[in-house]
Amino acid sequence: MKSYRKELFFHLERRRGFVNITPDVQACVDESGVREGLALVNSMHITSSVFINDDESGLHHDFDSWLEKLAPHEPVSSYRHNDTGEDNADAHLKRQIMGREVVVAITKGRLDLGTWERIFYGEFDGGRRKRALVKIIGE
Ligand code: ZN
Repeated sequence: MKSYRKELFFHLERRRGFVNITPDVQACVDESGVREGLALVNSMHITSSVFINDDESGLHHDFDSWLEKLAPHEPVSSYRHNDTGEDNADAHLKRQIMGREVVVAITKGRLDLGTWERIFYGEFDGGRRKRALVKIIGE
């Protein structure tokens, strides 16, 4: 069995944003040489997510509005977590609902995704360097 590990790095200037990382993950699959197996992709931070959905800008706007309704960034003082001096309580909550990781099947050397499925990195507390892990196993 082959095993492969790589970290993907991100530095979004904005506080929040979504990045389509499907080509990066497929590049990892290519590099791994795995033809049949599984790819795990997870955020290595508790204020960002990895999830699968449509690459459609209207939907991304809807995700952002919906998350801001559920857990608005302001007022920062409304969150107990921010009593620590941080201002990112909303980012922890947004990450929790959007998820930590995805697992995708690899078939014949390709990510075996549904027609409209794409893999995204979701940032909720940007402005600094962050990373996601890609782990691939198979043969
Ligand atoms: Zn925090």
